[in-house]
Parts: sequence; structure tokens; C-alpha cells
Amino acid sequence: MNMKTFIFISLLVFNSIVLAECQSQRVYVQVLGSGGPELTDGRASSSYLVWLDGKGIVLIDAGPGSSLNYEKSGAKLNDLEAVLFTHFHVDHSADFSAYVKGSYFTHRSRDIQLFGPESNHLMPSATEFTDRLLGKQGVYPYLQDYISLSKKSNFKINAKNISLTKHDKQSVYKSNDYSLSAIPVHHGPLPALAWRINVAGCSISFSGDMSNRFQTLAVLATGSDILIAHNAIPESQKGVGRKLHMPPSEIGNIAQQAKVKKLILSHRMTRTLGGEQDTLAKIRKYYKGTVLFANDMDRFKPENI
Ligand SMILES: [Zn+2]
Repeated sequence: MNMKTFIFISLLVFNSIVLAECQSQRVYVQVLGSGGPELTDGRASSSYLVWLDGKGIVLIDAGPGSSLNYEKSGAKLNDLEAVLFTHFHVDHSADFSAYVKGSYFTHRSRDIQLFGPESNHLMPSATEFTDRLLGKQGVYPYLQDYISLSKKSNFKINAKNISLTKHDKQSVYKSNDYSLSAIPVHHGPLPALAWRINVAGCSISFSGDMSNRFQTLAVLATGSDILIAHNAIPESQKGVGRKLHMPPSEIGNIAQQAKVKKLILSHRMTRTLGGEQDTLAKIRKYYKGTVLFANDMDRFKPENI
């Protein structure tokens, strides 16, 4: 190998290493809803917005109250590229139609990509959710143009269902700037997904609601710069709550297994609010990294390594 070739190859390797590093100054995740379904927790329900280069590009869940926080965040609906649903419980999805109607008053001309789980006997799929909400026979038929291909509208909502059959990580979407992947998680009898976004060399994972009976989240979240996990129950929780959600020790175990760089606790409910010291102690038995409790409007940047 001559010197020129050596320098060329060295530069290629150097560039690929630099590009693979998290460009943390370009990315953050903003909490639009840090609460659960209660109307007594003083918080909007579940929702997160991923920002890249000053634009809010991907929304994860759209719980009640979160659209007001979206407005407060200064995000522009024209910049929103994709909406990901972890599942279709009210506290994760009720504000979605507000985004569709809000977009009518913008110059939006680009389609919105929407992804969510397949259906089962209890819940609609992502495509059924949009049809039943916005379709001709839906709750808001006056918005049907946004999902009907035969109607003229400035943009469409392209809904897609993510399979739950295999409990494997699935690549869902790739653009020039980011990629999305999902994995089925156990949330009682409900179809549910955890999500991961890789953007500008950084990675952010979202547990959604889950009990970890499938033990899939650690696989998806491996090496994430940020994991947002739902702290819906205390360690002592029994009954239905425990069937649907994971206790703090399980969250700590997952964060440790996945070696995430930062753990954010959200979906905070009255049964966990005030118990932060206990929650932290249970997590610390497994995970020694940074742990933070989310509040509405918080912005979290990936770690600078
Ligand atoms: Zn739920």
C-alpha cells in the first residue's frame, strides 16, 4: 500500500468513526407528557418529541394534554415527519386528532408516517385506529380526506401496522436523517411496542407501558444514549397494575442489561409520585448510571462521551 492509499483509507475509517459518534448537540428528546391516565397527577399524559437540528421530527405517543405542551415547545407541525404509537390506550393516543386538525392551518404538504401495533380482540391496529377516528364512518368524518387516497388533501396520514408475531427487533423506517425500530412488549393483554430512534449517531429508546414479561426491551435498547422507561408502579404493586407495568427493580435490571447511558423515568402516577427515593434505591441495585425523573417540557440531551 502506498502512502496516498494509506492516508485515504485512514481518512475513511476516521470519518466513519466520527459519523458513528452521537452528535449530541444536534439532538434532544422533549417530554410533552410525563404523567399517566389520572387527571390528578398535574401532568399531561404520555408523549415525547424528538428534535433534530431545531426541528421536532418524531412524536412518540399523543396522550391527553400533550398537544398543548407541543404548542408550548415551539415545534412546528410542518416539521413533524412521523408519529409512533406504543399502544392505543387513551393516555397515549387521545390527542392525535388535534395534530391532524392543527395541521390544516399550516402549509403542510408532506405526508405524516404513522406507526403502531397490530390489532387484537381488545384494541384496534394503527390503520384501524386512524380509520375509526378519521374515516368516513369514523368519529371525525370531516377529516376523512387525510386518510382517503381518492380525496384531495394537502397531505395524507400513512398508517402502518407493526407485527407482534415475533418478539424480535424490527426495522420499521429509514430516512436520510434517522431510523426507527420497534419490538413487541408485554402490556397485559394489549398489543404494545417499545420504540427506538437512531438519529445523528445518537439513540433514544422508549419503553411505552410494559411489564417486561417478554424480556424484549433490553434487546431493543442496547447501548442507547437515553432510555425513557415508564415508572407507573411502585415496587410493592400487586394485581392488575403489576400485570400491566414493570416495578423499579425491573427498570433498573433492563437499564443495566442494555447498558444505556442515561435512564429517564416518566409516566409518573400518584402511586409513584413522592416515592422517588424508594424508586431510585430499587433501580440502583442494578443500574449505576444517570437516573432522572421526567417532568412536562423537560429536554434531555444524549450524553457527551
Ligand atoms: Zn397502557
